Amino acid sequence: MSHFRTLDDLENDLGDVSGKVALVRVDLNLPMADGAATDLTRARAVAPTILELADAGAKVLLLAHFGRPKGERHSTLSTSLVQPSIEGVLGREVMYISEVSGTVVEQSLAILRPGNIGLLENTRFWPGEEANNPDFARAIAANGDFYVNDAFSAAHRAHASTEGLAHLLPAYAGRAMEAELQALNRALGNPEKPVAAVVGGAKVSSKLAVLKHLVARVDHLIIGGGMANTFLAARGVDVGKSLCEHDLTPQAEGIMDAADRAGCTVHLPYDVVVAREFAANPPGLRTCNVHEVAPDEMILDVGPQATEALADVLKTCRTLVWNGPLGAFETPPFEAATVALAQTAAALTSEGSLVTVAGGGDTLAALAQAGVVDRFSYVSTAGGAFLEWMEGRELPGVAALAR
Ligand code: ADP
Ligand code: MG
Repeated sequence: MSHFRTLDDLENDLGDVSGKVALVRVDLNLPMADGAATDLTRARAVAPTILELADAGAKVLLLAHFGRPKGERHSTLSTSLVQPSIEGVLGREVMYISEVSGTVVEQSLAILRPGNIGLLENTRFWPGEEANNPDFARAIAANGDFYVNDAFSAAHRAHASTEGLAHLLPAYAGRAMEAELQALNRALGNPEKPVAAVVGGAKVSSKLAVLKHLVARVDHLIIGGGMANTFLAARGVDVGKSLCEHDLTPQAEGIMDAADRAGCTVHLPYDVVVAREFAANPPGLRTCNVHEVAPDEMILDVGPQATEALADVLKTCRTLVWNGPLGAFETPPFEAATVALAQTAAALTSEGSLVTVAGGGDTLAALAQAGVVDRFSYVSTAGGAFLEWMEGRELPGVAALAR
């Protein structure tokens, strides 16, 4: 992992930050219902960085996007709507500022005392944000002394507030960004071997790049979920009515060949849970060998024998990276394999024998259902950025910090 500076380097670089203006990119894109945030996870994630800077006496200006205003002001997408949430999480007053640059920001800074916090307007109200326009970035930078990026979840975008600013001011990773980068590095950058990856979810097509990247880096590639059906089909298994991308079987073969060449063992289920209809506890639900799936049945979960064998694989490994559920976990009882394997992984983590890093929207929901989110070494909430990292892509927001 290339080196990046953190809040630990601030004093050495800049001396006392008291009274200096910190421009801090955070993720406050909170899910909302009826004008109130329904989940404060993102606000909680950035709180330590904000409080640390404020307690050091900096004037902290928060930069965030909120929704998709596409370069225009929308009153329904103003960051003023999340101001109460961040105030509540921080337990401090936060001044909402209706611009991101110019005299309104200057005047607000004259009012803010060292250690105070301001929340700038939605960066995406200006087209310069997503265009990463240098003049737009310079106008924001003009009011700051240094830049902190604490929004890993936005780091796959080269926008003015996620990338451009890092070139204009001394730039640092915030605490949440630092933790995320450290966890990801432990999982795939410089992991303890053997390494296992679980890749599941609905479709091969959405994760081809992930699979291609992983085969060369992990010792065990565990494929589950709907995408396993395409791999089974490529091996000549009749998967009946299962979700299956038959046109992608050559791609699946290519991935299995690449795995062979790299010495990576690909694990596909050999028993599966099948049903004739996709419903909760459907009639005709049964477990069978993959070669016994009837033409009118569909595979909805990995079977118990294969799940136990996968648990044994994890017991031989030191590192696990996980994206995608093993089955249609939202519908009972098709969460069983995901929940069982997640609990094995959590137990091995508690014993200290396995480092476990997971990410992905549905993965997060599945791990929460299994009750293991807090028992994994690290669970990323970053979504798109996490997937791009799993694909081995350089994230512009991270690269700009690592210059
Ligand atoms: P993530 O959001 O964690 O990246 P995905 O979006 O790729 O995960 O996949 C999650 C979806 O895959 C879930 O909605 C789940 O129901 C579905 N899924 C998993 N296994 C199957 C299966 N065998 N058949 C149909 N859908 C499945
Ligand atoms: Mg998903």
